[in-house]
Amino acid sequence: MIMQNISFKGTVGKDWDSVDPRLKAFFLGLADHTRQKYDKGIILTCLIRSVEYNLSIGGNPKSAHLPSEGRAGDIRSRTFTAEEAAEIVAWVKMVWGNFIHFIHHNSGNGEHFHANINHPFKRDGWRNGV
Ligand SMILES: [Zn+2]
Repeated sequence: MIMQNISFKGTVGKDWDSVDPRLKAFFLGLADHTRQKYDKGIILTCLIRSVEYNLSIGGNPKSAHLPSEGRAGDIRSRTFTAEEAAEIVAWVKMVWGNFIHFIHHNSGNGEHFHANINHPFKRDGWRNGV
């Protein structure tokens, strides 16, 4: 897959194939949008979070970042202006509705966008192509 508009922090790219394919499609569409509108790609800073690490940072015990879920990702937001960030949040809401939960927030480790497939759309068995 050619991903000229998506890059990864550190070793985060190793988790790309461990997330729900619908989340990958979301990121590809979002990155295409930000490239077209702002001439900027996106940087994914977190996809999967191990159970141990999630516990250590006080993460939600049912976090969508957990390996068993694989339906969340974080995006660096400081590459966008505050106005662009607000537009991006609005664009995601308009295009993806309630399928994707998308927020620009600071959870303690710096400002970023957090995206996850909402719980009602959770699909078990996707790793096996079901
Ligand atoms: Zn997150």
